[in-house]
Amino acid sequence: MAENTHAHAIVVPFPVQGHIKPSLNLALKLASQGFTITFVTTHFTHQQISQAHKNSTNTNHDMFFQARNSSLDIRHVTVTDTFPLGFDRAGNQDQFWEGMLHVFPAHVDELVDQLMNSSKPRPTCLILDTFYNWGSKIANKFNLVHISFWTQSALSFTLFYHWELLKKNGHFGSPDNRTDVIDYIPGVQEIKPADLISYLQMSDTTTVAHRTCFTAFEDVRKADFILANTIQEFETDTISSIRFHQPFFYPIGPVFLTKSEQQASSALWSESDCEQWLSTKPKGSVLYASFGSYARVTRHDIAEIAYGLMQSEVNFIWVIRDDIVGAHETDFLPTEFINGIKLKDQGLLVSWCSQTEVLSNAAIGGFLTHCGWNSILESVWCEVPLLCFPIMTDQPSNRKLVVDDWRIGVNLSAAEEVSREEVSMKVRNLISGELGNELRVQIQKYKKLMENGIMEGGSSHSNWNKFIHDLQIFKK
Ligand code: UDP
Repeated sequence: MAENTHAHAIVVPFPVQGHIKPSLNLALKLASQGFTITFVTTHFTHQQISQAHKNSTNTNHDMFFQARNSSLDIRHVTVTDTFPLGFDRAGNQDQFWEGMLHVFPAHVDELVDQLMNSSKPRPTCLILDTFYNWGSKIANKFNLVHISFWTQSALSFTLFYHWELLKKNGHFGSPDNRTDVIDYIPGVQEIKPADLISYLQMSDTTTVAHRTCFTAFEDVRKADFILANTIQEFETDTISSIRFHQPFFYPIGPVFLTKSEQQASSALWSESDCEQWLSTKPKGSVLYASFGSYARVTRHDIAEIAYGLMQSEVNFIWVIRDDIVGAHETDFLPTEFINGIKLKDQGLLVSWCSQTEVLSNAAIGGFLTHCGWNSILESVWCEVPLLCFPIMTDQPSNRKLVVDDWRIGVNLSAAEEVSREEVSMKVRNLISGELGNELRVQIQKYKKLMENGIMEGGSSHSNWNKFIHDLQIFKK
């Protein structure tokens, strides 16, 4: 890309909440630097966001593509994800991934073609989620700069990147009897097999999710730039090692919005207002519990967590998605629990909320989390210590960082299944015990690192400036 060319980036996020939100934040960050942005969502995502916005009782936010009427040049277009709007994507994961792998790229290709011929200024770069294993093909076809956006930790990146090493050493798709520590991944001192990303642990390694991940990590090697939503000081050795292989890897996290930009929401579900309920609770007295946007929890664990929360007598907000147990599973919360918490006004159950708004409320004192990467970054930012209950994908590896490396959280369950006694004891310790205080001191140190990172001269700030500079002088 020649210097002084007016940059126009087409941004295509992976269509799930934990990827759309940071991608939109990245798009807004670029737009505020003078980039023209074409932000691409699928028809389905667009419909979901519009519906969510219509039904939301939280009136603090505008839907993101309505809110962008400011001086920023950000355009929004939709493209089909290949399935009819009524298709149950969450319930047909394999079919969905198959479509994203084989048919979706043809639609993106067609869209880019149209934009190249019709939009002004002409697009100059294509920013794609790293999981899109067809990124370099489309970027090269249209002579666009290929920027891969990695929305997770550097640890997860490097585990995927070196999956063949795991295979060679017999840890890939490892049977349960492998418990020996893995100490040969560059930039990772050691990691237990149980802390690997779930796809790397599964014995069936032939699924479409596997194929997508591994081919994606072939393709990312061809990207011109890789932006990562992590912080250099959080994962110093891992990032240095990645940079050895991929010099154009820029940790620019956390990709958060400023207060005024936060008016725009990309929520896929209607947000319930929690502010009023929280305003009645003392400082640091409330546990926030959420397992993210897609992970499922067994009926047994949901019931034990419910009883444990009730018995702890700690106040809580619990995000219970309708499909938390399964698409057609109902009545998974014990009646005794619902009646019990209502009686004492101990808990607020919501199906979705503005998590960042809730976490930043002074009444929140702890976060029971599935360890999604965005949730961890948001919790650090709000200085809320974590109680970790990882379920799948990158969550076990994120747990390792939070509990073993950074010591800003503790494990919920060492056993196979969680028990109400354990939930109750750990929640109490986190909110009002000595443990919570120790974790709070530690998390303040990480918040400081994060804050310093995005300040003028900090690592993320400098990496961002370097990326913008390198992009300007880059010649494809
Ligand atoms: N989130 C939210 N409201 C909720 C639950 C989650 O806004 O009730 C947001 C949360 O702030 C985070 C994203 O959804 O930005 C979830 O991403 P994460 O990586 O934590 O988990 P995933 O859903 O990808 O498993």
